[in-house]
Amino acid sequence: MKFALITFGCRVNQADSASLDKDLRAVGGQPALPEEADLVVVNTCSVTASADQSARKVIRRIGRRNPEARIVVTGCYATRAAEEIGLLPGVAAVVSNSRKERLTTDLRSLLKSLPERPGDGPCGASIETSAPSRTVHMLCVQTGCDETCTYCIIPRTRGRGRSRPIPEVLARVQLATEAGFKEIVLTGVHLGSYGQDLNPATSLLELAQALDNHRADCRFRISSLEPMDCEPALIDLVARSGRFAPHFHLPLQHGSDNCLRAMGRPYSRDDYRRVVDAVRESLPHSAIGSDVMAGFPGEAASDHDASIRYLAESPLTYVHVFPYADRPGTVASRMLQKVGSDVVKRRARELRVVAAELQDRFRRRAVGEVRPALTLEDGGLALTDNYLKVQLRRPTARNRLVDIRIDSASGGRMTGEIIGSDYGSVT
Ligand code: SF4
Repeated sequence: MKFALITFGCRVNQADSASLDKDLRAVGGQPALPEEADLVVVNTCSVTASADQSARKVIRRIGRRNPEARIVVTGCYATRAAEEIGLLPGVAAVVSNSRKERLTTDLRSLLKSLPERPGDGPCGASIETSAPSRTVHMLCVQTGCDETCTYCIIPRTRGRGRSRPIPEVLARVQLATEAGFKEIVLTGVHLGSYGQDLNPATSLLELAQALDNHRADCRFRISSLEPMDCEPALIDLVARSGRFAPHFHLPLQHGSDNCLRAMGRPYSRDDYRRVVDAVRESLPHSAIGSDVMAGFPGEAASDHDASIRYLAESPLTYVHVFPYADRPGTVASRMLQKVGSDVVKRRARELRVVAAELQDRFRRRAVGEVRPALTLEDGGLALTDNYLKVQLRRPTARNRLVDIRIDSASGGRMTGEIIGSDYGSVT
């Protein structure tokens, strides 16, 4: 049986897909192109209208090019609009997020009923921790969210917050490192709420402390963290540990307190500023990323200016800009005072100009620095601990922990040279 996995959206979806990939291989599946697969799983996102549209486009294309394929659709869009997706050509099943973890079990009967094609391997192939071509392991430690951000559909599609107990996370880290992964990214829908649902309750800080003491040979990276969850003790641990990448992704969403209130975000811009400044002070070389939305309902020109002003003077190193779009079912979608689409686009463009300047400044400042990095792809690219992608002048093997000196940064391209590695100094 040949299968293909198509993933949209966030790192949580990527982690879910990596786990599904492993499970499907374990029950005898062989990865294939969507055009040649018997089973195509589309793991959707519904964070924006264009995410929904991309998923529909892909599903239709598979249906056209491979009419024999059984298409199974899961993820946030599948949870939010099951009926709509079920009507698309070729869709055999729509699986909500709440059943996603049992998806492989549910698929077993479907897999068994598929005729074997010439060239298919035997069932029960050996279990792999992840696809061999990947270098960074996404480890989902939490899913669901109990917050009530007015623009977000995720609490409805992913349900309440649920966490993996610490011993289970440690066991998965062990497996990932035994399979050769040297970087593990901790992901979650609302990662900062990690452990609150467990009995006894625990926290992301306690998980990070346990990981810091884990004997596995790898480094860790914390993915997106809500600003109110970025507590001083966690920043301190990352600064002291040496095992956690100096990288915080802290979604601001808006630089105006009026909009933050309307969005249901439980902090002010000054609260946010204090968190970011604390990270910068403890970790001067850290990457600090953010998400900012343009054109939220009711956003006045002065609110937009507040976002621009804050970003321009902030120590952020990269910013993802999202133009606001209604997500049916959210509180924000029912708000009046929508901002016209031309204005939304223009404001998003203006925010992106500032975002590009911040990123450029961080890249140029890094020239001449030596940073630990992991070689990616074919070994010609390295990802530094502080989240810079650097082309290596002399490529090496992939998946090696190396020290690189950054030589140049221009036009969005950075270059560097290896000056030491996990095998010792090479200069
Ligand atoms: S914290 Fe807010 S934006 Fe993030 S998943 Fe929860 S409701 Fe959505």
